[in-house]
Amino acid sequence: MATKHSEYLGTAREIALSLVREQADQIYADRIWPERSIRELQRAGLGGLAVPTELGGLGGGASALAEICEVLGEQCASTAICFGMHCVGSAVIAAHATPAQQSELLEPICEGEHITTLALSEPGTGAHFYLPQTQILADDNGYVLNGRKTFVTNGNHAESYVLSGVSAADGLSFSCAVAPQGSPGMTWSGAWTGMGMRGNSSLQLSLDNVAIPRSHLLGNEGDQIWYVFHVVAPYFLMAMSGVYLGIAQAAFNAAREHVTRRAYAHTGALLADTAVLQHRIGQLWGELEKTRQLVHAAAKKFDVGTEDALLAVMAAKAEVADCVVKTVNEAMTLCGGMAYRDAGPLERYLHDARAAHVMAPTTDTLRTWIGRAALDLPLLGD
Ligand SMILES: Cc1cc2nc3c(=O)[nH]c(=O)nc-3n(C[C@H](O)[C@H](O)[C@H](O)COP(=O)(O)OP(=O)(O)OC[C@H]3O[C@@H](n4cnc5c(N)ncnc54)[C@H](O)[C@@H]3O)c2cc1C
Repeated sequence: MATKHSEYLGTAREIALSLVREQADQIYADRIWPERSIRELQRAGLGGLAVPTELGGLGGGASALAEICEVLGEQCASTAICFGMHCVGSAVIAAHATPAQQSELLEPICEGEHITTLALSEPGTGAHFYLPQTQILADDNGYVLNGRKTFVTNGNHAESYVLSGVSAADGLSFSCAVAPQGSPGMTWSGAWTGMGMRGNSSLQLSLDNVAIPRSHLLGNEGDQIWYVFHVVAPYFLMAMSGVYLGIAQAAFNAAREHVTRRAYAHTGALLADTAVLQHRIGQLWGELEKTRQLVHAAAKKFDVGTEDALLAVMAAKAEVADCVVKTVNEAMTLCGGMAYRDAGPLERYLHDARAAHVMAPTTDTLRTWIGRAALDLPLLGD
């Protein structure tokens, strides 16, 4: 099993360039959850990528997560998101894992036998995912959950779900817990018919008197906001930054390839011979490179624990969202009517890229939070 950064990045690249690439069109066309690729990544030992080494994982941190999601996202964004959400969920579990959570959840995660994921968003509070309305009622045996989650990526395919809720007793204190798949009272509904990210299986989950033992609480009661800003946000933002950089790189490659192949009958010239198109390709390359450097720097800040790390990861994800939408749009223009007519991979990139701005924390929210922090205001002010 690969244990060094360069080794597991190499392993991920090999899987990305073979199975993930082969499966991408079918996943998009048939809306299939990327089971084969996820299992292959687990088999290759990458299931514990975001779990610290002292808990049996690879300890890849946000840097390896961003890089691996980029490598996967260049081939298939759905596979990259599904794998990324598993890694974010496992980092959340690992943050304050009890010995019981280590043996029940982290060991199988690191052994490639367990997929987890985040089920935070709710229909009622939407992009304000840190304000769950799911009720958590403490009783003698543990907790009982009642509520509805939405957009649960890996929905109905994971072995466990990292959930959030509000105390039924005071309506004020928010907590995180893990519920195993198949817990009585859990019902999945709908099919994922999203415009893009078509393999995501981002489903709705109803929780009707779902009982979980006390040992499945993450951290202490009332810790959700700590988890959101110390673990969920940084790992999620770096995973997603990687995914969207991957899409942007794929779109750039498609544009580059098209302009170097397309020749006119009346002049014999290639599109690549046209100065203005050379300029546009140059501009896109620069945009992509500066955004990638920003992501890598932000991930490193988080991994070493600098004071401004949270601001850096938030800014990086906002910039990546702008970069990917711009790059894919430009690539579509550079590839011309043929790309528009033939509905090739650029259609997939265009559809997948648009999720970048709307997955919470959304671009607007991130920029507002960064501004508030820069102004010494609390992030969650209103
Ligand atoms: C492909 C995909 C996968 C997802 N996977 C997961 C997952 O695995 N787990 C999970 O928990 N969630 C997931 N989500 C959910 C996601 O994180 C958001 O919660 C969801 O997209 C919110 O959608 P909404 O229509 O309710 O947004 P709304 O809350 O209705 O927001 C609509 C728009 O208004 C903006 N807005 C709202 N309030 C403000 C404000 N105060 N200031 C400025 N702008 C504001 C938002 O930024 C957004 O652009 C996923 C979403 C997508 C699209």
